[in-house]
Amino acid sequence: MGKALIIGCGGVAGVAIHKCCQNSDEFTEIMIASRTKEKCDALKEKLENTTKTKISTAKVDANNVDELIALINEFKPDVVLNLALPYQDLTIMDACLATKTNYVDTANYEPEDTAKFEYKWQWAYREKFKEAGITALLGSGFDPGVTGVFSAYALKHEFDEINYIDILDCNGGDNGYPFATNFNPEINIREVSANGSYFEDGKFIETKPMEIKREYDFKGVGKKDMYLLHHEELESLGINIPGIKRIRFFMTFSQSYLTHLKCLENVGMTSIEPVEYEGKSIVPLQFLKFMLPDPATLGPRTHGKTNIGCIFRGKKDGKEKNYYLFNVCDHQESYKEVGAQAVSYTTGVPAMIGAMLVMNGTWDKKGVYNIEEFDPDPFMDALNKWGLPWQEDFNPVLVD
Ligand code: NDP
Repeated sequence: MGKALIIGCGGVAGVAIHKCCQNSDEFTEIMIASRTKEKCDALKEKLENTTKTKISTAKVDANNVDELIALINEFKPDVVLNLALPYQDLTIMDACLATKTNYVDTANYEPEDTAKFEYKWQWAYREKFKEAGITALLGSGFDPGVTGVFSAYALKHEFDEINYIDILDCNGGDNGYPFATNFNPEINIREVSANGSYFEDGKFIETKPMEIKREYDFKGVGKKDMYLLHHEELESLGINIPGIKRIRFFMTFSQSYLTHLKCLENVGMTSIEPVEYEGKSIVPLQFLKFMLPDPATLGPRTHGKTNIGCIFRGKKDGKEKNYYLFNVCDHQESYKEVGAQAVSYTTGVPAMIGAMLVMNGTWDKKGVYNIEEFDPDPFMDALNKWGLPWQEDFNPVLVD
C-alpha cells in the first residue's frame, strides 16, 4: 500500500497508470504529473470511477529540479516513476535525492545534444542514493527491464553459467501507416540511426547502423528480418552476468520502415543538429517528430503481435544448455484493455511492477541498481499476474 508520483503522461505512462489503477491494493494513491496537464486530467477523468486508487494531477516541468522538489514535498510519494523522456532522468534523480524518495525509470539518461546511451551518468549517483537510504531502480520497461529480469531468472534457476545472450525484439504489428514509430519518434529514431554494437569478451564491437541482419521465425508472428542494434541493457548485463562472453540485441524492422528512414536520413531530417530556418533555430528530428503520427494514437489501428525475449546459452551441471524466455503480446488485446498498442503495453506493465516492488519494499537495496541486480522471482510472478505471461523453450532455434 503506497503512493506513487508518475511523471509523464504519454503512451507508456498511460498504460502504467491503467495498471496502477487495476492494482489499487498496492497503489492506494497516485499523482500524474506532466508538462501538459490536460492529458493528465483527461486520463484521471477516464479512470477515476473505475478504481479505488485515488488520483490527482499536476503540471510539472521535469527539467526543473526545484519544481520537482516542491511537487514531491507536497505529495510525499513512496516512489517516483519517471515515464517522461530520458533527458529528464538526472533532474528527477536530483529531486528524489533532495527529498529522500525512491526512483524508478525505463530508459537511461541521454543528453539532448548527443545520442549516447550510457549508464555512467546515473551510476555516478550510487553512493549518494545509498547514503540517503533510498533505491533507484534503472530500466524497468521491457528492454531494458524484462530482458534483465529474464537474465537474472535464467541465471538463478536454469544455468550455472550463462555465456551467450541474444535479445530478440520483434514487433509483428502493422499500423497501416507507411512510416510511424511505436514509441516516442525522437527517441526511437535516435536509437535506430545510431551505430550498432554488441558486447564480446569484455568490450563493445561497433557496427554500422543495420549492418548485421538475420532472419528469425518468431512464435505468434512468423518469419521476420531483424537487425543488430546497440541497446542500453548490453552495458549493465555485460557487468552483472558473470561468465558472459557475448550479448547481442536484434530488433525487427520492415523494409518499408527502413526505406523511409534511409530517405529521411539522406535529406537530413533525422539530424539532431539545430538548423536556421526563416530566422528560427529548429532541430530537424524534432520537426519530423511533429509531422509523424503520435504513437499514443496508434492503438486502434495496430494489429498483430509483439514477441520479445532472450535466448540464453551456457552450462548447467557441466553440460551445454540452451534456453529461450519470451513474451508474446497482442496489439488489439492491449488496446481493448488499456487503450494502447502493445509496445506501450509491454513497457508500461513492467514499469508498474518495478514501482510496486520498490514501493512495497520487496526490492529494498539502497543505492542505484539495474533491474537484473534484484531477485527476479517476484517480478516474474507479477508478469504472469499483470498481463505479460512468459513462455519457455528448452530447444530454441539459435541465431548464428
Ligand atoms: P511519449 O512521448 O509518449 O511521452 C512522454 C511524456 O513525457 C509526455 O507526456 C510528455 O509531455 C512528458 N514530458 C516530456 N518532457 C517533459 C518535461 N520536461 N516535463 C514533464 N513532462 C515531460 O513517450 P513514451 O511514453 O513513448 O516513452 C516514455 C519513456 O519510456 C521514454 O523514456 C522511452 O525511452 C521509454 N521507453 C522504454 C522502453 C523500454 O522497453 N524500456 C520502450 C519504450 C519506451 P507532453 O504530453 O507535454 O508531450
